[in-house]
Amino acid sequence: MNKRPLYFDYAATTPVDERVIKVMVECLGFTGNFGNPASSSHAFGQQARQSVEQARRQVAELVGAQAEQIVWTSGATESNNLALKGVAQARGVSGGHIITSQIEHKAILDTAKQLQDAGVAVTYLVPDAEGLITPQAVSEAMREDTFLVSLMLVNNELGTINDIPAIGQVVRDRDALFHVDAAQGAGKVAIDLARWPVDLMSFSAHKVYGPKGIGALYVGPRAQQRLQAQIHGGGHEGGLRSGTLATHQIAAMGAAFALAATLFDEEKATIARLRERLLEPLLSIPGVRLNGSPTQRIPHTLSLTFNEGEFSSAALSTSIAFSATSACNSASNAPSHVLLALGHDARSASRTIRLSLGRFTTEQDIDQAVHLIKATCASAPAFWATGP
Ligand SMILES: *Cc1c(COP(=O)(O)O)cnc(C)c1O
Repeated sequence: MNKRPLYFDYAATTPVDERVIKVMVECLGFTGNFGNPASSSHAFGQQARQSVEQARRQVAELVGAQAEQIVWTSGATESNNLALKGVAQARGVSGGHIITSQIEHKAILDTAKQLQDAGVAVTYLVPDAEGLITPQAVSEAMREDTFLVSLMLVNNELGTINDIPAIGQVVRDRDALFHVDAAQGAGKVAIDLARWPVDLMSFSAHKVYGPKGIGALYVGPRAQQRLQAQIHGGGHEGGLRSGTLATHQIAAMGAAFALAATLFDEEKATIARLRERLLEPLLSIPGVRLNGSPTQRIPHTLSLTFNEGEFSSAALSTSIAFSATSACNSASNAPSHVLLALGHDARSASRTIRLSLGRFTTEQDIDQAVHLIKATCASAPAFWATGP
């Protein structure tokens, strides 16, 4: 009774890894590392500060950054807000132009809309048919007054990977700043901020087997003097983000990112294998299509569109936890803006599901999911109309 559905929604959030929970819990109680990292005059504070700085090094290490370039935030949403509003406000003049895309996360799109209301011109690039933003598209959209480009590394609905180093070069040639939302990329794509022409990058712990409510913004040397704080009070984090540092959250994010580095190769191979085991049988169902580039993608996230009448996501959702659009959109129940940008209409968007795999997905999970999805399709009238 009450058996939990199979979990295929790692792109929405991941469970906290047990090894990370252990680190986190050690920062809470009286016998643990509970001090305020800003209390530099005694051992409790000093020990907490050490944990925070170790975590900063761990996060930096996964992405090829320097520890002092990592600013703690409450998550990728706040990091995105700090990057976009911070850069726009630091310019100190109204107007100007920024470039982003139609398929960004709402944390970028809604923030860009705020800037638009404040008088900043915004270009929303249309992805190509494979869901990618090309360097040429960015180059063509650049204007004399473009001061910021913000694009995601990995799309949360499609799993597609933008060519960030190539786009970054285009942006740098024009002297604008480049922000990248890497919430879906960290731990899955090799990120090298020492070499990539990227000025700001957003991260979230809970997409990488850490807790919710903690994230980071990478602030590179070109962005350092061009970023205005959004939260004031105490001047923590070099004045860029005030607030008592949440030692347990931060230590956990550090542990989660360190673990992601350790497991990187192994996990990549495992997920790729599981992905094949899932995708191949599903693509053999008549009319099923994979959305987004078949090659420039992470193996973890699959967006699949089914034939008309073939598929009832309501019937399936009791046995498999997946996303009908994106968890981040589900509050509004509107068709996915990502799928619409790829040319879907509202109806085909409603026949699309996102299945995302992760660290705890097993072969058994995959085989059961395939069985359940095939059974759902086979019982639908349209399946027999088009023929198996
Ligand atoms: C999850 C996600 C976010 C939001 O991160 P939070 O830490 O939940 O605020 C932003 N961008 C992308 C691409 C995401 O997948």
